Amino acid sequence: MKKSNKMADSNIAQVKYYLWLLEQHGVENPTGILEYPKLRQTQPVDLTAEDRARIPLELEAMKVLLADDVPCPPVIDKPFCKQCAYYEFCYVAE
Ligand code: SF4
Repeated sequence: MKKSNKMADSNIAQVKYYLWLLEQHGVENPTGILEYPKLRQTQPVDLTAEDRARIPLELEAMKVLLADDVPCPPVIDKPFCKQCAYYEFCYVAE
């Protein structure tokens, strides 16, 4: 369930990751539903073959990033940063 009043691709990606994790733990064909109460909308989320191939690659890319001495890219300081899920991490020192 998302409190936001906008539907974002990152929400779908988050649910797909959870579905992938469930599959990794033996749950067969898990499905999800995103609910947006403010919008009065729901969105079904399924895991596709493409997702199953992409998610492990993204996890590997994250591991490479985390192993870097400076794992975070520089703050880009754009107006949309205020809507970004990482805003507090990027601007915590400012
Ligand atoms: S707040 Fe988000 S978009 Fe802005 S610099 Fe940080 S990660 Fe990038």
